[in-house]
Amino acid sequence: MATPTPVEPMTVGPACALCGEPAVVQWRRRLADDEFAQILEAEQKRRDEAILLADPANPPVFGPMPQPSDYTTAVYACATHGITLDLAALVHRKTCTAPQTADLPECDCTPEPPPPPDEELVRTAPRLPAGWHTG
Ligand SMILES: [Zn+2]
Ligand SMILES: [Zn+2]
Repeated sequence: MATPTPVEPMTVGPACALCGEPAVVQWRRRLADDEFAQILEAEQKRRDEAILLADPANPPVFGPMPQPSDYTTAVYACATHGITLDLAALVHRKTCTAPQTADLPECDCTPEPPPPPDEELVRTAPRLPAGWHTG
């Protein structure tokens, strides 16, 4: 990686996390500890500044600090290095290293279970009198 790389002309969109080719797929994973630490740090800084600027007699009130479960980050991959569609539909652990050639088309974590079915859909399913159900 010591040789200088020519400036990429017009790189559009995100690049594959493994090879740097233009990405065609993406999935989500939780923030790694250092990534989340940056979020916390930025939030703390924001709060410190707000307190500095505020009237000392009337200090600002903040909600709870961000939680790791509030955040995901996008992982991008090209057509060669994408994981399966089923896996890409789930949120991956912060330790997930996908895409890694050795693991493809899977990854090395156990993704979080899918969210429960959309309550809206369940609620709007028509309710029928007893005996009217078909199939
Ligand atoms: Zn790739
Ligand atoms: Zn994973």
